[in-house]
Amino acid sequence: MLRIRNLALQRIISQAERDYPYETCGLLLGKIEGSLRTVFGAFETPNANPDRKNDRYEISPKDYLRAEKKAREFGLEIVGVYHSHPDHPDRPSQFDQERAFEGWSYIILSVSKGKVVSYRSWELIDGKFVEEEIFIFG
Ligand SMILES: [Zn+2]
Repeated sequence: MLRIRNLALQRIISQAERDYPYETCGLLLGKIEGSLRTVFGAFETPNANPDRKNDRYEISPKDYLRAEKKAREFGLEIVGVYHSHPDHPDRPSQFDQERAFEGWSYIILSVSKGKVVSYRSWELIDGKFVEEEIFIFG
């Protein structure tokens, strides 16, 4: 289950709309307590995919380290990833699933004509993505 601060969610939404028609991505900073992940902030990372920015995203190791450092400053950790699907539904692709980690949340936003039309969060359980509930707070 995912809890996310409204401010972080709004930031992710505007980032996804700004980067349309390309995929946007970033890391979720927060706390993990058992199966509950609470997100306090969004850490934007540039899409490091060299040639398929419209349907692939990639986060460079350098940006993971920057995010980890930022999280630690606030006593937080990386709890997941967010990215957008321009002109595609908010369901994970096979590619997304293959690269995901268990224990993290994956928010996917569907963007159509420059506007976020829906978003959902997914968690990997036994190698398969399962939708998880999102609670917005703050
Ligand atoms: Zn994807």
